[in-house]
Amino acid sequence: MSTLLESYAAGRWFRAADDGEPLLDAATGEEVARISSRGLDVAAMVGHARRTGGPALRSLTFHERAALLKALAKHLSERKEELYALSVRTGATSRDTAVDVDGGIGTLFSYASRGARELPNDTVVLDGGPERLGKGGTFVGRHLYASRPGVAVQINAFNFPVWGMLEKLAPAFLAGLPTIVKPAGQAAYLAERAVRQIIESRILPEGTLQLLAGGPGGLLDELTVQDSVAFTGSAHTAGILRRHPNVLDGGVVLGVEADSLNCSILGPDVGPDDPEFDLFVKGVVTEMTVKAGQKCTAIRRVLVPAPMAGAVVEALAARLAKVTVGDPRNPQVRMGALVSLGQRDEVRKAVEALRASAEVVFGAPGGTASIDGDAERGAFMSPLLLRARPGAGEPHEVEPFGPVSTVLTYDGIEEAVDLAARGRGSLVASVVTHDPQVARSIVLGLAPWHGRVLVLDRDDAGESTGHGSPLPVLVHGGPGRAGGGEELGGIRGVLRHMQCTAVQASPDLLTAVTGQWTTGAGRLTSDVHPFRKSLAELRVGDTIASGTRTVTLEDIGHFAEFTGDVFYAHTDAEAAARNPLFGGIVAHGYLVVSLAAGLFVDPAPGPVLANFGVDALRFLTPVKAGDTIGVTLTVKQITPRGGADYGEVRWDAVVTNQEDRTVATYDVLTLVAKTWPAAPQ
Ligand code: NDP
Repeated sequence: MSTLLESYAAGRWFRAADDGEPLLDAATGEEVARISSRGLDVAAMVGHARRTGGPALRSLTFHERAALLKALAKHLSERKEELYALSVRTGATSRDTAVDVDGGIGTLFSYASRGARELPNDTVVLDGGPERLGKGGTFVGRHLYASRPGVAVQINAFNFPVWGMLEKLAPAFLAGLPTIVKPAGQAAYLAERAVRQIIESRILPEGTLQLLAGGPGGLLDELTVQDSVAFTGSAHTAGILRRHPNVLDGGVVLGVEADSLNCSILGPDVGPDDPEFDLFVKGVVTEMTVKAGQKCTAIRRVLVPAPMAGAVVEALAARLAKVTVGDPRNPQVRMGALVSLGQRDEVRKAVEALRASAEVVFGAPGGTASIDGDAERGAFMSPLLLRARPGAGEPHEVEPFGPVSTVLTYDGIEEAVDLAARGRGSLVASVVTHDPQVARSIVLGLAPWHGRVLVLDRDDAGESTGHGSPLPVLVHGGPGRAGGGEELGGIRGVLRHMQCTAVQASPDLLTAVTGQWTTGAGRLTSDVHPFRKSLAELRVGDTIASGTRTVTLEDIGHFAEFTGDVFYAHTDAEAAARNPLFGGIVAHGYLVVSLAAGLFVDPAPGPVLANFGVDALRFLTPVKAGDTIGVTLTVKQITPRGGADYGEVRWDAVVTNQEDRTVATYDVLTLVAKTWPAAPQ
């Protein structure tokens, strides 16, 4: 008998007392492993995540969490051969495995990098700027995102055991939530291997990742208001989860990614000789055959202008005829097996339902491997292309979760959009067109019904990641039938796991709460210019109020000539006088900013290493010749960079004139050495 998979629960590997259910190799039918969660204490798992994993994770800053994700991604990269070897047993070809294993590791890398670059080196994320809530400026408000003291449960589908786990783990981990992963039974041996590699690495704090191999037991019964469940799978199971009392009334947040009848639309501008025609055909065949069509993003509906249907079917059939189906261990095989014989039965049933309104134009509904495959024990199936009769309903209702697509025809852009919308909400659609008007009309028509829309043409095809690939930086999810959930999307995916709270307070206390200096809060002044202070010495609120400088007409003329910016408002007195906003010559905004720098900079070599930009620059009052300006520079935020001997300092800059009116406001961004003098190299 093969190995019984273990769960990683409450800090140890748990083995069920019974023999479990067999999990079979998709291509050969041999037993790969057995699975059971009988006797597993799921309450203890949830408790362990809450009491051990969560606090350990939330004691780390976003940058520290990002560094752990990066280390984890490297660790898994070095061990992916072991995962590849198991992936093949799920029926996956090496191309499919790359999507799952390499795609999952790539998602970890992407989140590690985004977390380090786009989140603060803190445990709280600020959203937008402060809102002044009273005339006197003593009462302000600001949105912030805080970590929840809960657990992120993921219940995954069978199709991408590694990617499905890592794409949910990475944003939850950054958000400060420990994860409990429940992989789908069929391919759980691959998810278990990946979790084993992660646990053995000891990179993640204990309790931040646990594995439930087998049935979920009473897992959902243990969840409460700070917990979330991210589910991928069938609409049927999603319905069961939606009706769970803890979801209905208990405040558990449920994210669903379920059935999706994605479509690809051939633009009405495309003829058989256009490069877009081939791109369209290639895209459909790729989506039908990668992972044997067992992809939530696969193209189920192929929408083409009625006069093009014959040409499209012919081209698709010619390409599909070249797809070799069989055991994925054979390098000549382009499409492997479905995950199980049971799953193939489900797909065949769906095809029968589709045949009520569509005819098969390529493939044999009972067909199996075309080369090298055990027809009896392997879950092989030939790709199937159907062509729907006009007005057919089934293609918009039935999801054959395998290598099956249906061609439908449309007459005009409006009908194309209507047909796409009949899927009642999908994860992704693609539009293949080179016509700007077609692109705009179709994309805006599709947008309310889709989480992602790919516009493919000759210009982006070379770099396009394709219809079916969810990307870590873009939203993955879709409205309506697709589940209404949203995953990934870069930092949006992290914030979705956190609580947004509007905090109202005085500027001083808001500064204390957020760690970021707020206009109106106290400023710290001393004899030491803040540019002489290292990162270790600087404090939020440290301020320099500069001397003043009177701007002359010569300054403005010199700047115009020197830079070549001879715009009339700075150089032509008569024309400038007619300008309704200025009524005469004014200084360049950039001159004001440059003079301000001249006023606040401390010139000698010191801990300030570089200025890497300004944010939110606004010119609020024009500066005329004879005006006298000064600048106040205040440390707004200090962000040490992990692994570097410097960090970022964001300074609040306010330029005022002789009447104390605000001329310009902006944030100056600098890099400052952690210590000064710098430690010898
Ligand atoms: P399921 O919905 O049956 O299973 C998905 C996950 O939910 C599995 O981990 C499963 O565990 C778990 N699960 C099942 N019942 C419960 C429950 N009552 N409480 C908690 N968890 C539960 O989908 P399958 O993976 O079996 O796929 C079936 C169909 O779903 C496919 O044919 C396809 O139509 C659709 N599907 C859609 C996907 C999409 O993203 N659009 C992705 C995958 C599937 P276990 O395996 O242990 O039963």
